[in-house]
Amino acid sequence: MSTDDIFVYRFEEGHARGDGSQKDLLGGKGAGLAEMARLGMPVPPGMTLTTEACRSYLEHGFFPEGLEMQVRQGIAWLEKTTGRGFGDVNNPLLLSVRSGAARSMPGMMDTVLNLGLSEDSVEGLARQSGDRRFAYDCLRRFVQMYTSVVMGVDDAVLEEVLVRHRRRAGVDDDHELGWEELFAISEAMRQKAVEVTGRDVPRGPFGQLWGAVEAVFRSWEAPRARAYRKLHQMSGGGWGTAVNIMVMVFGNLGDESASGVAFSRNPATGEARPYGEYMIATQGEDVVGGRRSPGPLGMNEEQHGGMAAMERLMPEQYAELCGYMEDLERNYHDMQDVEFCVERGKLWMLQTRAAKRTGQAAVRVALEMCEEGMIDEEEAILRVDPKLHLERALHRQIAGSPPDAIARGQAASPGAASGEIVLSSERAVERANDGESVILVRPMTAADDVEGLHAAAGVLTAQGGLTSHAAVVARGIGTPCVCGVGALRIDEDEGGIYLGETFFKEGDRITIDGGSGEVFGEALELKDPTITGELKTFLELADRYRRLEVRVNVDSGEEAELAREMGAEGVGLCRTEHMILESREAVRAMRQVLLSTDWEMREQGLEELVNYQRQEIAQILRAMDGLPVMVRLLDPPAHEFLPGTPAGRKSVAEVLGISEEAVGWRVDALRETNPMLGFRGGRLAMVYPQIYEAQVQAIVEASRQVQDEGVRTRVEIAIPMVADPGEAGHLIAVINDAVARHLYGLSREADVAVGVMVEVPRAALLAGELALEADFFSFGTNDLTQLMWGMSRDDASRFIEAYRDQGVLTEDPFEILDRAGVGLLMRQALKQGRMVYPQLAAGVCGEHAGEPNSIRFFEALNLDYVSVSPYRVASARLAAAQAFVREEQAARSGEAWRGGLAPMRRQSNGD
Ligand code: ADP
Ligand code: MG
Ligand code: MG
Repeated sequence: MSTDDIFVYRFEEGHARGDGSQKDLLGGKGAGLAEMARLGMPVPPGMTLTTEACRSYLEHGFFPEGLEMQVRQGIAWLEKTTGRGFGDVNNPLLLSVRSGAARSMPGMMDTVLNLGLSEDSVEGLARQSGDRRFAYDCLRRFVQMYTSVVMGVDDAVLEEVLVRHRRRAGVDDDHELGWEELFAISEAMRQKAVEVTGRDVPRGPFGQLWGAVEAVFRSWEAPRARAYRKLHQMSGGGWGTAVNIMVMVFGNLGDESASGVAFSRNPATGEARPYGEYMIATQGEDVVGGRRSPGPLGMNEEQHGGMAAMERLMPEQYAELCGYMEDLERNYHDMQDVEFCVERGKLWMLQTRAAKRTGQAAVRVALEMCEEGMIDEEEAILRVDPKLHLERALHRQIAGSPPDAIARGQAASPGAASGEIVLSSERAVERANDGESVILVRPMTAADDVEGLHAAAGVLTAQGGLTSHAAVVARGIGTPCVCGVGALRIDEDEGGIYLGETFFKEGDRITIDGGSGEVFGEALELKDPTITGELKTFLELADRYRRLEVRVNVDSGEEAELAREMGAEGVGLCRTEHMILESREAVRAMRQVLLSTDWEMREQGLEELVNYQRQEIAQILRAMDGLPVMVRLLDPPAHEFLPGTPAGRKSVAEVLGISEEAVGWRVDALRETNPMLGFRGGRLAMVYPQIYEAQVQAIVEASRQVQDEGVRTRVEIAIPMVADPGEAGHLIAVINDAVARHLYGLSREADVAVGVMVEVPRAALLAGELALEADFFSFGTNDLTQLMWGMSRDDASRFIEAYRDQGVLTEDPFEILDRAGVGLLMRQALKQGRMVYPQLAAGVCGEHAGEPNSIRFFEALNLDYVSVSPYRVASARLAAAQAFVREEQAARSGEAWRGGLAPMRRQSNGD
C-alpha cells in the first residue's frame, strides 16, 4: 500500500463512491451516515476510516501508512468546523469513536463516547456549556467506556464502583448524582484501571484516539463478534470493521436534551406508524441499556403513569424526526431504524439502517410498501426472509384458553415458548444441547449472552423495553421474548426467580407469550401456527411467481392434513418405515416378519403390516385428494426394528411365542457391520420380494378404498437405494406385477407411477439407463451427500466444524446442498434422464429441499418439485418464489446464475 491510499472519508464524501462498494468499504453505519449527510439531514460532522484500514491493521498489527496523517487532517477540519480544539482545555472538541461493519452486528462491537475529554479540560467544558454536572457526567462516561473498551477492564468491576458510589450518595440512579460524586467515580474507575492494567487513561487527546481506533479494529476479532458471525453464517473473517469518528452531540445536556431510538414503522407488527423510545437528559447507551424505562415516541404509546411521549414534550423535534424517517424510507425503499439525539432543542441524526423486524412485520411491511408503490411485487417477495421471518417466525401459540398470567411485561418478540427456567447463558446452551426446551431468564442481556439467546426457546427479562438488547436480538432470530417484567426478581443466592410472590427454582417450567407479554407459571400446551390474513395474501402473491412445486414429507395422515393447510401441493415422500416405527403394533408385526422361524407366522405378520399401512396410506390420500402422493417402499436399516437389550429379546420371544435363543440367533444373523451401507432399500426386496409386494397391496387397496369415497388419487411408488439399472428394472417389474394383480378385475384406471430414489452415486451416474425403467426420479440428497462425501451425517458434526473454522469449507454440505459436487452429479443425472425420457418427473426430498440456497439451485436445475417437512412448507413456497424471481432477474440482466457450478444455461423442460 502506498501513501496515496485513501483510508479516511468525510461523511460528505462517502457517497462519492457510487459503485455499490460503499457498505463494504465504509461499513453499514458509515454508509448510512454518509447517505443522511447527502440527503441534507443534520448529522454531526465526522469521517469514516475504511474497512480496508482495519484489514491492514489486523494483518500487520499496526496502522497502514498514511492513516494517521489523514485522520489528523480530518480532525483539523472538525476543529475548524466546530470552532473547538481537540484537547483544548477551555473549549474541548469531543468525539465519538464507533465501530461499524459491512453487515450489521447489533451491539457486538465497541464504541467510545466523549473522547478528547480529560481532567484538564473538564472544567473548560463546564464553563463553556454552563453546566458543570453535565461536564463531569461526560467525564465519567468517557472514563468508564475507555477503561472498559480500550483497556479491557472488566465491566462488572466498573459497574461495582458505580453502585458503591450510588449507595454512598443514597440514590438509585446516576442522574441524581452531583458533579463531585461523578468526579469521584471517574477517579475511582481510573484507579481501578491502573490497578488492573498498570497503565493510566491517556490525557492527551490523540493518545486516546489511537487507543480507541485500535480497540475498535480489534473488536472485530473479539470472541463474541466471532461467535456472532458464526451463528449468522457470516463466514470467513475477511472484511473487518470501519471506524466512524464524529463530533459529539449531547442528549445529556439538561432537560431540553434527549437521546432515542426510532423505527419508521412498528418492528413488531409492521404498522405504518413511527415507533420508538427516548429518554430525557441521557446519552445514547442509556436508552438501550435498560437501567431506566424509557418513554415512548408517540402519544398513542403513552402508558398510564409512564413517562410522557416525545410527541408531547418535544413536538417540533418529533415532527422533524418523523419527516426524516419518511425521507429515509423513500430513499432506501425499506423500513429504517434510526438513532437520534436532541441537544438543547436541536435534533441530530446519529445512525440509520434497515430495521430488524418480526416475521409478522416483515410480511406486512412488504405488502404495504408494495401497495404504496414504494417497491414492486418482485421486490416485495424478496423482502421477507424464508428462514428468519417464516420458518422460525411462523410461531407456535398457546393451545386453548390459557390460565391467568402470573406476570406481565412487554411483548417484545411474538410466539409462545414453554420450557425450563435457566438463569445463565452457559446453562441455556448446556440444557439445550441435552435436548431441553429452555427459557432464559435474565435481569437483562448483553452481547455475551448471544449464544444463550440462540439456544433458548424463549427469553424473559426483568428490565428494558422493546429496544433493549434482549428484545432486538430475539426479534432478529425469531425467538419469543417478554421483557421489562416488573414483577420478576432473580435471586441468584436461592438459585431461582420470583414472579411476584411465587418462587421458581432453576429447572422449573414456565410458559411465556411474546405476542401478549404474558408469563404463566406452568408448562402450557402449544399449537402450531396457521396461515391466515396478511401472511396468506403474501404467500399467494409469492405463489404467482413460483415455478417449483412444493410438496411435503409426511409419515401420517394427520401431518398430511396440516401440510395441506400450509399449502403443500402433494406428498413428495412418505417413509413407510417411519410409519411402522410410530406404532407399537406395527413394530411387533415387523419383528414377526424379520424374526419368526415359522413361515406362517411371517405371512401373518405381513398381513398385519398390510392392514396397518393401508389405513395410514388411505388417510394420507384423503388429505391430499387430487394431489400426488409418493410412497417410498421400506428402507429400514433392519436393526432399527430389532430388540437391542436382553430384556427386549425376552419380551419379543414371549410375544412371538419362540425361544429367546431363536430370537438371539436371528438378531445375530441380521446384525450388520455397517447398517448404513447394509441390507436396506431395494436389496431387501431382492431377497424378500414379499415385503414390497405386501406394501404395494396396501397402497393399491388404500387407493381403491378412498376412490370409492370419491377421492381422486395420484399415487407414486418409489424404490429406495437402487444402485443399478438392472436392479431397478427387476424391482419395477415386481411392483408392476403386484399392482396389476391387486387391481385385477377392477375397471378403474390405476394412476400409479413407479420410480426410483436417486441417492446412490452409481444410480445417478447411470441415470440414462435408469430413466428407461423409471417413471420418475426422486433425489434423496441426504444419502447422496453421505455417499458422495463418504461421511455419515450423524458423525459429520464432529469434524465438519474444523473445516469451517479453518475456512476450508464455508458451508456444511448436510445443511446447504453441495452444488459443486452433489449438484454437479444431479445436473448430469437429470440431463441424461430427460434425454432418454423427456417427461421424466424429478424432485428432491432430502433435508436440502427446504433450504433457501439449495432451492435456488434446484430452480436453476429445472427440477419439478421440492419436498419438505410440514413446518417448512410455507417458507419453501416463499424460497421457491424468490429463486424464480432471482433467476428471472439474472436472465434479464444477461448473467445466468451458475449456482457454484461450471457455466450452465437454464434448460427448458425436456431439454
Ligand atoms: P451500537 O452499535 O451499540 O449502537 P453506536 O456506535 O451506534 O453503537 O453508539 C452507541 C451509542 O452512542 C448510540 O446510542 C449512539 O446513538 C450514541 N452515539 C454515537 N455517536 C454519538 C455522537 N456523536 N453523539 C452522541 N451520541 C452518539
Ligand atoms: Mg454499544
Ligand atoms: Mg448504534
